[in-house]
Amino acid sequence: MNAEIIAVGTELLLGQIANTNAQFLSIVLARIGINVFYHSVVGDNQARLIEVIETANKRSDLIIFTGGLGPTKDDLTKETVASVLSLRLAEDSNVLNKIDSYFKRQNRQMTENNRKQALVIEGSTVLQNDFGTAPGIALSKNDRIYMLFPGPPSELKPMFNNYGRPFLLEQLEIKEHIESRVLKFFGIGESQLETEVLDLIDAQSNPTIAPLIEDGEATLRLTAKDLSFEKATKMLDEVERAIQNRVGQYFYGYNGSTLYKEVFELLKTKKMTVSSAESLTGGGFANELTNFAGSSSVFKGSIVCYDTEVKRNILKVPNDVIAAHGVVSQECAQYMAENVRQLLNTDIGISFTGVAGPDKQEGKPVGTVFVGIAINGKKTKIFTLNLAGSRSGIRTKSVKYGYFHLLK
Ligand code: ATP
Ligand code: MG
Repeated sequence: MNAEIIAVGTELLLGQIANTNAQFLSIVLARIGINVFYHSVVGDNQARLIEVIETANKRSDLIIFTGGLGPTKDDLTKETVASVLSLRLAEDSNVLNKIDSYFKRQNRQMTENNRKQALVIEGSTVLQNDFGTAPGIALSKNDRIYMLFPGPPSELKPMFNNYGRPFLLEQLEIKEHIESRVLKFFGIGESQLETEVLDLIDAQSNPTIAPLIEDGEATLRLTAKDLSFEKATKMLDEVERAIQNRVGQYFYGYNGSTLYKEVFELLKTKKMTVSSAESLTGGGFANELTNFAGSSSVFKGSIVCYDTEVKRNILKVPNDVIAAHGVVSQECAQYMAENVRQLLNTDIGISFTGVAGPDKQEGKPVGTVFVGIAINGKKTKIFTLNLAGSRSGIRTKSVKYGYFHLLK
């Protein structure tokens, strides 16, 4: 299904207002798997509007209009669409009653041109307007869907969400079912991820594989369309398997998930507790975990050991270790992780020490970070990161790597 959005209004052409309706509609249509191929803008002029509709009829399956549904003379979208489709307009008594009571509520008199708003295209579905008088219209003709919305965004948005979208979904389910799945990755750049699966992307048209970035993380959105939900899901499973075979080591979760949430759920399932010793992250690890209600069942506490004295006196990192290797070191990360685990009596201790910048530290470049993970009864693991970016970017990424390594 390819869609076109036709915004009607001379103010748009004059640059007096921006076409935010098309922006909104494109976003919400993409969410239900509909590709928008064209945005058209035309003034309040019947001849040119007819031309635009005729062009859209040749190239689009879903044609959405915004604007020109009001009561004034220059509002001619409804009349023009009806005439191009050779359909009549008929007064809808429900709509007329609604307009009538709308005016009564406002203690205003309904004028004859307001009555014009009760005219709808014959055979169409009326989309209720809860925030104004002009109703929306949806209809299907010659295998094409037409939808007409009023111009004011405050009317269009709720109308689309509450009535337009359900109408579309109902129409689409008759033809095909759209299932999508988002795969979230960490520790791999967007371009590398795309390169790893490029041949899959090129070979697939259904399901489609679309790489995108969310919160600085690489993701792949898989979208399958089929008559049956089961088949669409199976198609997604298959393409996901192929992707996981290539880049599964970086995968951590699906739609709406975060590294933080995955770790929280994993700790709960495994009934394990964690504590943290945080230098450059300054409590960032603890902050993310304590965002979850019920985090006290898995998280005991964090020691923010920003200063060397705190690493030495509270976390008991030995003097000779600090003297020999510095505080930005694998050795220090190891002591921090193991000792916070013991001090706070948890199953896991995680530590962060590194150089967030802007200046070098102990001769180590900005972005050098060590993450230690000490798990009761296992050999402590130390991960060395060489991160790029701003100070805050390095701190955030350090926290994310910590979470990622807890998962993997
Ligand atoms: P009304 O009953 O208010 O006249 P209408 O459906 O006739 O509604 P228009 O007259 O075309 O719509 O536009 C009304 C107002 O809606 C415009 O003045 C503008 O503020 C806003 N609007 C119209 N089209 C758009 C658009 N494409 N994007 C954003 N805002 C728009
Ligand atoms: Mg108007």
